[in-house]
Amino acid sequence: MYPDWNPEFQHEIARVRHFAEASLSRRAEAGLDRQGWQACAGEKLLGLPLPASWDGASCSALETVALFEALGRGGADRGLLFALGAHLFGACVPMALYGGPDLASRQGRFSVAGSRIFALAITEPSGGSHISSMETTARLSGGGYVLRGEKRFVTNAPDADLFLVLASTSPERGTFGLTAFLVPKETPGLEVRPLASTLGLAGAPMGSVYFQSCELPAAAVLGKEGGGFAVLGTAMQWERTCILAGFLGAAERDLARCVARMRRSRGGHPAPADHQAVAHRLAGVKCGLEAARAVLYRGASALDLRRETLLWPSLVKRTLSETLTTCAQDMMRLYAGAGWADEDGAATAWRDTAATLSASGTNDVQLNLIASCLRPDPGA
Ligand SMILES: Cc1cc2nc3c(=O)[nH]c(=O)nc-3n(C[C@H](O)[C@H](O)[C@H](O)COP(=O)(O)OP(=O)(O)OC[C@H]3O[C@@H](n4cnc5c(N)ncnc54)[C@H](O)[C@@H]3O)c2cc1C
Repeated sequence: MYPDWNPEFQHEIARVRHFAEASLSRRAEAGLDRQGWQACAGEKLLGLPLPASWDGASCSALETVALFEALGRGGADRGLLFALGAHLFGACVPMALYGGPDLASRQGRFSVAGSRIFALAITEPSGGSHISSMETTARLSGGGYVLRGEKRFVTNAPDADLFLVLASTSPERGTFGLTAFLVPKETPGLEVRPLASTLGLAGAPMGSVYFQSCELPAAAVLGKEGGGFAVLGTAMQWERTCILAGFLGAAERDLARCVARMRRSRGGHPAPADHQAVAHRLAGVKCGLEAARAVLYRGASALDLRRETLLWPSLVKRTLSETLTTCAQDMMRLYAGAGWADEDGAATAWRDTAATLSASGTNDVQLNLIASCLRPDPGA
């Protein structure tokens, strides 16, 4: 199941892991780690899957997840990993696919260089699971549009220079009436209100974005009018497949630390791992992580081959978020009191990981999508 990487790419994986160990392995305090973001840009990580026109590296999805996993394995904070992923997979990839050369030179190159941050604004107060009944509207006016509405839980909102916003240009047409817009933060009428506190992911600040009669030029449309659902589809395929790769690497790192701790004896007592209950729980975490990796790599390969593009992103997102959350909780239980006290970051890891159960669409919605792809086997 593991890709048989050539020596050059193995070297690249090791290089990214060492970079994270040397430059990112410190717990980020609340707020986006701008220094870490810039350091990642310096290592050319912000352009991994992006084309040459964006100064990107044109990596496949499979290569991209392997390198993000290495970042997490090296110790990058999950908040930073999530913020980078929301920017790169939720916004940059669809912008590179649906935008032209002009967008590449106006925005793309700056984002790969680390000087522009993007956010994907989809979710609304009426419920993020109901895309077809989106209430944010963009009405034709003169040669452009007037955008009105509210988005919430937008990752990177407090730091974003540009928002990729989904709005309805023809409400009566449901998802076919959705259009994607690129809206700079300085647009008159746009207001960001940061979310004051969240359970986890303190390093990936989020907020609400309000559009009070924002006037947009026709050129603000990404793709074509009525093509917003396709733009969203690209964003979700990449985000659901790739955004948790770094979390998998981080969980492997946590497991290695947890094993070392459980094997240490204290005050003449047997080491915790000498109890079968403890050893089995550690083994269960290892099983979960290996199974999650197999699904991640399989899903990334499917994305590269453009195969089953509804099934695999949901399958990866649901499997990784559930498995990683269970593993983080199991490790917190192994640490017991020390876990509650957040020693070795065990409680932070669990809180950060639990956030992923609802991000990129809840896992109930992922199951809906997976179920819709199931077909009877005609040969059975
Ligand atoms: C860490 C994090 C990061 C996020 N980042 C972003 C971002 O960058 N941009 C953005 O736009 N949004 C973002 N979100 C929002 C996220 O996409 C939404 O939380 C999610 O889509 C669910 O929407 P909701 O919270 O409004 O819940 P609702 O849609 O109101 O759902 C409430 C409950 O009902 C269930 N439910 C609703 N409809 C169905 C259905 N059809 N079938 C089965 N169950 C259903 C849900 O599973 C859930 O349990 C983020 C969320 C989190 C937690």
